[in-house]
Amino acid sequence: MTDISLRKRLETLISEYSHRAEAIERDLSREHAQSFSEQATERQNDMVLQGLLADARVSIKEVQHALVRLDEGTYGECEVCGELISAARLDALPAARQCINCAE
Ligand SMILES: [Zn+2]
Repeated sequence: MTDISLRKRLETLISEYSHRAEAIERDLSREHAQSFSEQATERQNDMVLQGLLADARVSIKEVQHALVRLDEGTYGECEVCGELISAARLDALPAARQCINCAE
């Protein structure tokens, strides 16, 4: 994959994760229900949503790091052993920072 299409792909990922995070934030900021039992259900849902929101934010950071590494010319190098991360792994996980051996 060329740097330009890779950059596009990473930027697309960031905007997807951002949209997801925004949608979750909207859900979390909705009006609260009146009844006690509904509020209990809402709190459980909110906990799930907050977990998803945290995941989305971590994913955004990971992809932003990948873009920085792309700028620095270190994209695709394992941060642990310095070997090149396989193309198949990067294809599946474009923000991967470690080769398959070091990740395991
Ligand atoms: Zn490694």
